[in-house]
Amino acid sequence: MQKVMLVTGASRGIGAATAIMAAQRGYAVCVNYKQNAGAAEAVVARIAAAGGRAIAVQADMADEAQIRSLFSAIDSHFGRLDGLVNNAGILERQSPLRDMDAARLRRILEVNVVSVFACCREAVRRMSTRDGGQGGVIVNVSSMAARLGSPGEYIDYAASKGAIDTLTIGLSKEVADEGIRVNAVRPGVIDTEIHASGGEPGRVERVKHSVPLRRGGTAEEVAGAIMWFFTPEAAYSTGAFLDVSGGR
Ligand code: NAP
Repeated sequence: MQKVMLVTGASRGIGAATAIMAAQRGYAVCVNYKQNAGAAEAVVARIAAAGGRAIAVQADMADEAQIRSLFSAIDSHFGRLDGLVNNAGILERQSPLRDMDAARLRRILEVNVVSVFACCREAVRRMSTRDGGQGGVIVNVSSMAARLGSPGEYIDYAASKGAIDTLTIGLSKEVADEGIRVNAVRPGVIDTEIHASGGEPGRVERVKHSVPLRRGGTAEEVAGAIMWFFTPEAAYSTGAFLDVSGGR
């Protein structure tokens, strides 16, 4: 039977590239998005045009009820879940910590951390061999920011990704004997629209000289790393981190 993967935040950028690559590798894909239905439907159409199977499901990762509905939609449409890519993530305008308020921190943590816990919970309940599931793979999209700290830009975002790294370590051990592997990919500076939401659409151009490989990465390069964890070659990797950062 065809395996099913949920990619959160898959209407563009790294999520869209991952959804398309997953479909190319035989997965039926749930393309989650928050507001850009047109872009999500375009990803679904591209997958369908290549002979794949996908649905677009709107759900705001900041809302636990919507996350539950998202998984219910997968249950009713596909009837199984084999893979989860926790990709949806946000950052806010570049700012030193001295100008950050608690509301900003809560917005970041809701989408980048709380939602990932909730999605992992829903996925584990469906995949765990302890509960009659068939096992599965979870890949969390962290960031090199978790290790670099993003001073002067967004320490809040960097710290949220640090939480994702710790979640990955803990959950990987918690569910290892339930047929579920949990890993993370840490992208560096990747050429997507996320930098515009930080207030600097041209950020990749500015910082690429600080990258040892002297360029930004592509969404497809990150998607390839994410998808590696779904291959048989990754069968012994759990609690692992794959940095896709050009050496940064
Ligand atoms: P992006 O181009 O800004 O795309 C973000 C995606 O997430 C969109 O599909 C968006 O959907 C969705 N999204 C945003 N808020 C959401 C919410 N509340 N609920 C559901 N979906 C939501 O981002 P990206 O650069 O591809 O980043 C993807 C992941 O990689 C993020 O976790 C990010 O932190 C991480 N990352 C990126 C970089 C980089 O340099 N680009 C580096 C390190 C890590 P809509 O279109 O509907 O709004």
